[in-house]
Amino acid sequence: MPADSKVQVRTRSMKRYSFLALAREALRRHRGWPGAWRFPDLKPRYRVVIVGGGGHGLATAYYLAKLHGIRDVAVLEKGWLGGGNTGRNTTIVRSNYLLDDNARFYEHSLRLWEGLSRDLNYNVMFSQRGVLNLAHSDSQMDAFARRGNRMRLNGIDAELLDRRAVARYVPLLDTSGNARYPVLGGLLQGWGGVARHDAVAWGFARAADALGVDIVQGCEVVGFRIDGGCVTGVETTRGTIEVERVGLAVAGNTGRVAGFAGLTLPIESHVLQAFVTEPVKPLLHHVVTSGAIHCYVSQTDKGEVLLGGDLDGYNSYAQRGNLPAVEHVAQAAVAMYPPLSRLRVMRSWGGVMDMTMDGSPIIGKTPVENLFIDGGWCYGGFKATPGSGWVFAHTIAHGEPHELNAGFGLERFATGRTLDENGAGPTPNAH
Ligand SMILES: Cc1cc2nc3c(=O)[nH]c(=O)nc-3n(C[C@H](O)[C@H](O)[C@H](O)COP(=O)(O)OP(=O)(O)OC[C@H]3O[C@@H](n4cnc5c(N)ncnc54)[C@H](O)[C@@H]3O)c2cc1C
Repeated sequence: MPADSKVQVRTRSMKRYSFLALAREALRRHRGWPGAWRFPDLKPRYRVVIVGGGGHGLATAYYLAKLHGIRDVAVLEKGWLGGGNTGRNTTIVRSNYLLDDNARFYEHSLRLWEGLSRDLNYNVMFSQRGVLNLAHSDSQMDAFARRGNRMRLNGIDAELLDRRAVARYVPLLDTSGNARYPVLGGLLQGWGGVARHDAVAWGFARAADALGVDIVQGCEVVGFRIDGGCVTGVETTRGTIEVERVGLAVAGNTGRVAGFAGLTLPIESHVLQAFVTEPVKPLLHHVVTSGAIHCYVSQTDKGEVLLGGDLDGYNSYAQRGNLPAVEHVAQAAVAMYPPLSRLRVMRSWGGVMDMTMDGSPIIGKTPVENLFIDGGWCYGGFKATPGSGWVFAHTIAHGEPHELNAGFGLERFATGRTLDENGAGPTPNAH
């Protein structure tokens, strides 16, 4: 798909955010700021339509316009920007993977995160405060040593900590000999951290809009027009659009939306919850996770302690969960970090996770020509946002995957070349 060299580029003048602009606007009582993006009407025809206005869809549109010169792009969002999982996650960013395909892809994403605020001229508040995975058994320590060595061979930072080092790193954690969940050590990725999730969606939206991308909210895709095995149109609640290529980036709705094109995907949809306590002064300076106990903890910039755990016990498309999952995470958190027992829970919410059969995402072509898919992100798609947009834009522009996402194609489930990071087998809720 050649770049839009002959198409008139509708680059909108975007007011740069800077100290000088802020000072100038302060003198004018902030009356001169333009909207961060437009609210355009839907055109009858686009070269590329991206379904889903979460971080992945918006990042894809941005990189299509910026890196591939394809600006005749619409992002269609049934609700509001970032209202899906992008605005609901616990914001952990890391690249601490064992398998080479995962390690290379997520490390590429981490590198993009490092320059993202500058690239988008939007502060996504990326903070590399370190991500620590706790080990509670000898076999887990062995597995962490193996993963850490593999990460270092792949040029990714990893440090294996013993129990005393963990205690120094996270004084709040009960590492005593009689702890309810004994801690033997941990694997630290110091480059990992967190980012502000809404800002990621808004930053990509603003930058994509400035390059001419039409972002249309409140526009649900309800079907596809397929002629001779090739997608040619997108049916929406605002009318039908002719298209050359379509990219799906609908996270927890991937199975449902792909179904409009007659596809059945190796995906199960589950609810994942998270919740925050009332804000307190800084007490937790890193992200600390325990896969074995299903409890991960960090402190937001607002001071809230942010907690997450395992999937809810049943499949659902509702963006909320039930109390047993919250109870499990809360009891684990209090047992591991006893001072947290004094805090009150302030808010809880849920998101819909598309869990694949091997726990790795699907980014690539589909059996329908010119219909591409970015989905199956399980628990971990936020950290992939820039990397996923980058490779998905390449895949849509060239009609073929980039070498970074070549291993993530749908066909791997037929050929058996799966990317099973946890070795959990085809049991989606175990990944
Ligand atoms: C509680 C929780 C905690 C998580 N924690 C982490 C974490 O710490 N780190 C991490 O890396 N990942 C985490 N994740 C996963 C991460 O949030 C997602 O993988 C990622 O945000 C997916 O981004 P997206 O842009 O693909 O999806 P979304 O942000 O969900 O965007 C998809 C959009 O598609 C829209 N859509 C759906 N159907 C249609 C349609 N028919 N027409 C038009 N639009 C449609 C939706 O409204 C939605 O806005 C977590 C998820 C949850 C729920």
